[in-house]
Amino acid sequence: MVRSVALGAAALAVLAALPSAGIARPVAKPAPKAQSAPAVQPAPGAPKLIVAISIDQFSADLFAQYRSHFTGGLARLASGAVFPAGYQSHAATETCPGHSTILTGVHPARSGIIANTWIDQSVTRAKKTVYCAEDEAKAAADPKDYVASVGHLLVPTLGERVKALWPTSRNVAVSGKDRGALMMGGHVIDSVYWWKGAGFATLDGRTLTPAAVNENKALGEVLAQGAPELPLPDWCGAKARAVPLSATFAVGTGRFALAAGDKNAFRASPRLDRATLDLATELLDENKLGKNATPDVLSVSLSATDYVGHGYGTEGSEMCIQLQQLDLALGDFFVALDQRGIDYAVVLTADHGGFDMPERLDEQALPAAHRVNKALLPEALSAAVAARTGLDAKDLVLADGPSGDIWLRRDLAPADKARALEALKAELLANPDVAAAFTADEIAAAPAGTGSPETWPLIARAKASFYKPRSGDLVLMLKRGVVPIPTPGPGYVATHGSPWDYDRRVPILFWRKGMTSFEQPSPVETVDIAPTLAALIGLPVPAGAFDGRCLDLDAGTGDTCGAKP
Ligand SMILES: [Zn+2]
Repeated sequence: MVRSVALGAAALAVLAALPSAGIARPVAKPAPKAQSAPAVQPAPGAPKLIVAISIDQFSADLFAQYRSHFTGGLARLASGAVFPAGYQSHAATETCPGHSTILTGVHPARSGIIANTWIDQSVTRAKKTVYCAEDEAKAAADPKDYVASVGHLLVPTLGERVKALWPTSRNVAVSGKDRGALMMGGHVIDSVYWWKGAGFATLDGRTLTPAAVNENKALGEVLAQGAPELPLPDWCGAKARAVPLSATFAVGTGRFALAAGDKNAFRASPRLDRATLDLATELLDENKLGKNATPDVLSVSLSATDYVGHGYGTEGSEMCIQLQQLDLALGDFFVALDQRGIDYAVVLTADHGGFDMPERLDEQALPAAHRVNKALLPEALSAAVAARTGLDAKDLVLADGPSGDIWLRRDLAPADKARALEALKAELLANPDVAAAFTADEIAAAPAGTGSPETWPLIARAKASFYKPRSGDLVLMLKRGVVPIPTPGPGYVATHGSPWDYDRRVPILFWRKGMTSFEQPSPVETVDIAPTLAALIGLPVPAGAFDGRCLDLDAGTGDTCGAKP
């Protein structure tokens, strides 16, 4: 239940101006200048700063596995309101859709962020794959680059709603990835930074502020010099065991020694998260966050856990060291907030979970885990569907990989398209790695998931990821334990993205100084975060704006969601 607050005419006007679901292309408008006292005051005792943190690929499984070892920031948050079974309820458990749910309070079906990438055969450029956080209508100065944009996000974020109602509030976001910062920050944002290659970057047309200039200078020195390996905590020792993946490389014993100038190694290491949090700290001061007249929102998306998971899997020394270092860096960040005397509330979650690499899973009691059959790659499917239908195989089946959305060539006549779709579905269902294949029409006609996301049928998970103008003609779901990387290579041995709970289930932790700790093990959803935070600060939101519900963060008889009717 969202706190009910009487809306003044001015508040209704600014909320009406916000983009909402169903509008194809939201227009970012500058927030109106404050001229008089806001029509709606923040809730009495509302925190002055919301700190929303996403740890990329921080599964509920990793939180459970390492929880007892945390002593820093994660230990502090585990003493707040703990929801160990939060759900990114949708099927396409990737970074962009996951980040899009956290502060909008809606599933990807409404945020429009169905995946990290989708294929749009109507774009005029040669490359038909569209990235979730690009403006494909613009050409970047470097032809290999793209123009970062949040234009594909169809709904406002919490920070945007706050700014629309309270123009003195600041909305700031920082991340190791552009999509992490943009999907949490949204269209109307005071300051936004992400790691790009060798330093932090921002939107085209903006210049780096001194906070980012300073951080980039310090990082440039670290990169130029290199750094020694990181310590292996005692409790990580048993994990340090090499697992060979080919004749030339193995993972499992890494310690993150940084060779001078190795930008990729910097990115896939705890140093990226430390840098992101250092910049977040400098942005606190630069934007006077928590010191403004009305609540501010700071979004921090920490990407290294995801890069470590992809590069080394989840059960080696690498992930163990990563999580210890992240816990310590978060602890230092919260101390920095304390030292500034800011009254802040934190939520921490993840954009998706993750899964280890099958070679180690096989050794560790899960022999069913394996790498996907190459017959599910789009080229092989094109040939198979062509053989079944007699249609031209060239670009007949389009996809970014062997799972998720699949498109058929768009120039097919309706009757041919129907035949191809039927043949594709039959081909997929005959493959032993395939759990399900749903056509767009089947997904559109299916009921939306209700009740606990743990028990949603697969098609309801697909529906939460389905937005017709962008989604495929068919969605392919691999069986549990099938890893959609046919051949591992350095930097890419394991992944996520499936509709299974190892990828959907993430922790959701709320913390504020002085709050009474409690734990609620029943499933909740990441779309519950925005309504919970909106109620905490007294932000009125139109009925139906969120897919989630407010979570009462008061362990006792009080109710942070407001009085129940
Ligand atoms: Zn990832």
